[in-house]
Amino acid sequence: RENIHDKIDYVFKVVVIGDSAVGKSQMLSRFAKNEFCLDSKSTIGVEFQTRTVTINGKVIKAQIWDTAGQERYRAVTSAYYRGALGAMVVYDITKRQSFDHVARWVDELRAQADSSVVIMLIGNKGDLVEQRVVHAEDAVEFAEDQGLFFSETSALSGENVDTAFFKLLEQIHRVVS
Ligand code: GDP
Ligand code: MG
Repeated sequence: RENIHDKIDYVFKVVVIGDSAVGKSQMLSRFAKNEFCLDSKSTIGVEFQTRTVTINGKVIKAQIWDTAGQERYRAVTSAYYRGALGAMVVYDITKRQSFDHVARWVDELRAQADSSVVIMLIGNKGDLVEQRVVHAEDAVEFAEDQGLFFSETSALSGENVDTAFFKLLEQIHRVVS
């Protein structure tokens, strides 16, 4: 996908946050490598993955950071947020608690990242419709209230993953240009 002959106009750092096991790492590998692995383990040492895309005629290298399990110990450091222009705050539509914690993640993000950071709320595991406990309307209401973009995705099927990342990158481009 990446073409070494492309001239890169922008590098956008995007962080992915949210409770453990909501599918952050799978979202990232779906977007960066178009892969999904059913029993994934967080890869120690891998800090970010990249994918280069063209948006509005500009070549944008998205550098997407993964917590690599740090969220388990609430050890996501300020270095993780530093320089982030965008963020995906992910919850699992089948886990109420992961949605209840979204406000905390957004607060932490706002405290640590740049004030112009573009935030997208993501309800992942959209394929598990039978187990849904978080209604999309509640997420839409929260997102509107907080000024966030919102999408439901499935890292497993790939549904909406690219669309959500492209939307976020497009908004960041709007902010920086
Ligand atoms: P993280 O801790 O937030 O990085 O979560 P992972 O990406 O490691 O995923 C946690 C678990 O949820 C793994 O067993 C994944 O296979 C599973 N998972 C992630 N995304 C999806 C999804 O969209 N649908 C379903 N059904 N399972 C998913
Ligand atoms: Mg992970």
